[in-house]
Amino acid sequence: MAGTIIVVGAGMAGLACATRLAAAGQQVSLFDKGRGPGGRMATRRAEVEGKTHRFDHGAQFFTARDDGFRARVEEWQRAGVVARWQAAGEEAWVGTPAMNAPIRAAAEPLDVSWGTRVAGIQSRDEGWLVSLDDGAERFSDSIVLAIPAEQAAELLAGLHDDFADRARRTASRPCWALMAVFPDRLECLDTLRGDDGEAVSWAARNGAKPGRDGSESWVVHASPEWSEAHLEDDAASVAARLLDAFLHQSGAGARAPVHMAAHRWRYAMADPVDGPPALWDATRKLGVCGDWLIAPRVESAWVSGTRLAETMLDSIDVH
Ligand SMILES: Cc1cc2nc3c(=O)[nH]c(=O)nc-3n(C[C@H](O)[C@H](O)[C@H](O)COP(=O)(O)OP(=O)(O)OC[C@H]3O[C@@H](n4cnc5c(N)ncnc54)[C@H](O)[C@@H]3O)c2cc1C
Repeated sequence: MAGTIIVVGAGMAGLACATRLAAAGQQVSLFDKGRGPGGRMATRRAEVEGKTHRFDHGAQFFTARDDGFRARVEEWQRAGVVARWQAAGEEAWVGTPAMNAPIRAAAEPLDVSWGTRVAGIQSRDEGWLVSLDDGAERFSDSIVLAIPAEQAAELLAGLHDDFADRARRTASRPCWALMAVFPDRLECLDTLRGDDGEAVSWAARNGAKPGRDGSESWVVHASPEWSEAHLEDDAASVAARLLDAFLHQSGAGARAPVHMAAHRWRYAMADPVDGPPALWDATRKLGVCGDWLIAPRVESAWVSGTRLAETMLDSIDVH
């Protein structure tokens, strides 16, 4: 047996890794600092005039080209937690009734502690000592980091020079996201893709995605360049500027939302460097997975997590 395994991060990559390990009979625990399931596939709620609105303010849709991921997505489709979304393209899938639904479904059979940040990891003779932000400590035989590159680099510093170096060389670009609700329907298509040089790179009528309530709630993403230029601006001024840019680019004209808020994704989209899609040191029993090892996509996160689990299982005596 591999003994106990701790996975840090229960986004798509960490859950894919843990699902595969658990299916092979391994004892896996996951810790995630988020209050609930989502990671960068999170869904944010807002109460507006007595009504609850939901916004997929991170990932907008995903593709499933890898055979293994396609099979997983088909399972989720049968379970009703994903559906095709033609407005974003022939190959586009979304979570239903919200983007975080497949994350919630994947986490459900696993041992996940939400709202628990891993603050530090120390090497011990027989494994790993993991410090949690509430002061508690956990011991495990193996450890997996399934978190964005910048955050992985911090935890890997002093633990593993090669893996830390790969993480440090991977930079992520930010994304400011505007969430807005309008009192009446905007006269424009359900999705908008901005041109190079425009402030808004993407916008979607969130309420028109499959399984939603049809409300006039919108998610608007700023381009990486615009997000970088306004990275330290306050959220209210970003929201106002993105609203203007969106109304202009979409042709919807001057409209006043009944709600708007902005969220900054500091590590939205990784720019991967060359190297294997998952990292495993069989001697130290230390693994790393995440979208940033392949490409900044949901599908890549799943592939990286699954590849890591398969490599781990190959290196131990349980299949
Ligand atoms: C604005 C935006 C738009 C996007 N659009 C698309 C799209 O249209 N299509 C697409 O395919 N992809 C898109 N992506 C990318 C996609 O969301 C990611 O590729 C994918 O979700 C990454 O999964 P992951 O598991 O690697 O990382 P994450 O989802 O980031 O999961 C990492 C988890 O680790 C947790 N964590 C971090 N540090 C710690 C710690 N110290 N202790 C405990 N937990 C920790 C976090 O809370 C998080 O839940 C988008 C992302 C963003 C932000």
